[in-house]
Amino acid sequence: MGNEQNFEVCSTCGGDRRIANSFGLTTTCPSCHGSGRRAEDAGFHDVTKTKPSHHRGANKAAEAAAKPQWPTTGEGGRLATEVRDSKSVTEAEKTRLIREIIDYEQSHGQCTQTFLKKVRKQVRPRV
Ligand SMILES: [Zn+2]
Repeated sequence: MGNEQNFEVCSTCGGDRRIANSFGLTTTCPSCHGSGRRAEDAGFHDVTKTKPSHHRGANKAAEAAAKPQWPTTGEGGRLATEVRDSKSVTEAEKTRLIREIIDYEQSHGQCTQTFLKKVRKQVRPRV
């Protein structure tokens, strides 16, 4: 076997080095410029392998994401939505109440009816 090919064949001409253009004439392949090899793409080299992945430092975004910003249970989420959409409490109160729901969820595993009522009472428009 004398026909060794240790390079990738050009995908445009398939290694023929020439392609037929729309006029029916053959012309030098524009991709490999007649070499028959797939053109070396400068951006193709895998630089990620040489870059140390541990050189990024502390990931503050991941740290912040560790603390939930929204209740994880269905009931808690619904309640938080009510709080958020409420027009009778201030933004600061909303933040505090949603925080409270999340905390309650984390310590109790879910929101009890009593807790739901307690929070709802605070966000309901006063009549
Ligand atoms: Zn080619």
